[in-house]
Amino acid sequence: MLMVYAILTDMNKAHDIVGYIYRADIFCTDHIVQQIAGEDSVDDVSGAVEEKLDYIATMFRIDREDELSFDSGDFPKVVFRHHFAPGIDRCSSCGEEL
Ligand SMILES: [Zn+2]
Repeated sequence: MLMVYAILTDMNKAHDIVGYIYRADIFCTDHIVQQIAGEDSVDDVSGAVEEKLDYIATMFRIDREDELSFDSGDFPKVVFRHHFAPGIDRCSSCGEEL
């Protein structure tokens, strides 16, 4: 049972959101929101980064479900763990490895 759990956890990690592509740069989950809106303007939105991005997207009438409908220059696109090899891509804001 424990082993099954470990395998499932590893599978999920491949689909984890590790960062975002925005205006030709890559940002970690800690810094993408301030890149778009500035931290202050979304302080009243509770929850995780994804919830804040959903909120901002709604304001800008961006359909996040359909990433082909907008450009990464206009709104961040999600980067999943399996898109990158570890240790290569870093956040343009803090330099942390994705
Ligand atoms: Zn960062």
